[in-house]
Amino acid sequence: MLLLGGTAEGRELAVRLRGVPHLRVVTSLAGRLEDSQPPPGELRSGGFGGVDGLAAWLRASAPVLVVDATHPFAAQISANALAASELTRAPLLRLQRPGWTANVGDRWLRVPSLAAAADLLPTVGRRPLLTTGRRDLSAFTAHPVCSLIDLFARCVEPPQSPLPARTTVLLARGPYPLAGERALLRELGIDVLVTKDSGGEATRPKLDAARELGVPVVMVDRPPSLAPVSASSVDEAEGWVRARLAAR
Ligand code: NAP
Repeated sequence: MLLLGGTAEGRELAVRLRGVPHLRVVTSLAGRLEDSQPPPGELRSGGFGGVDGLAAWLRASAPVLVVDATHPFAAQISANALAASELTRAPLLRLQRPGWTANVGDRWLRVPSLAAAADLLPTVGRRPLLTTGRRDLSAFTAHPVCSLIDLFARCVEPPQSPLPARTTVLLARGPYPLAGERALLRELGIDVLVTKDSGGEATRPKLDAARELGVPVVMVDRPPSLAPVSASSVDEAEGWVRARLAAR
């Protein structure tokens, strides 16, 4: 089975399927971040070389299943997985966690893109905490207005390109418990939080802290998903895989 990973759900599925008789799980990672907790089973790292490269890999390896457990914002690899699975007739399961839903008291401003978030940001606050990841930082640091305000950017690894003088990078790796998120927003005087609608529990506490402190959230909507979502939880995906194997 080819498991396109890079998410907590992908890792958890690999853990659950460890030891299933006659099943060899190969997890594929983009290989951009150092993985502090590699999943069990075989690993491959780095791009396949677009749809054609992935289709060639599928033809050569003939997996019984492809599970796309990549991040909701990793639109390219998901589109490639769909196209390559259609070309090679490899069965594809899309595992994608649901997006977040607002609770009473949340002040969320939903925007369709990072560019829209950057346009809106200076009208909402002057000390934003950006949690969109280092690869999306340029949407803000290259923006004519955002680049002039105090930006606090939380990233797992340091950004590679130079940043405006007023940008502060906070290096941290989740999970991020509520108490820490609350303290961070208070200590830095954050007046707006920017996030992608990634969903999941690991990064949800920042939203709870923002609600408690009355901090508005600029929430970037997910890109449209081409592949129909067939499982929204690891439980569902595991059941799907086991049923598929039993039917063989
Ligand atoms: P992307 O834009 O959809 O993919 C760009 C290219 O990276 C793909 O075309 C593919 O290269 C390669 N790639 C991506 N995921 C891969 C995988 N699991 N195995 C092998 N190649 C992969 O993806 P991204 O947004 O850069 O995300 C990269 C990885 O980080 C994904 O695996 C994703 O699950 C994880 N991640 C992303 C985010 C996010 O916010 N985007 C957040 C957390 C984790 P080729 O075309 O050469 O095959």
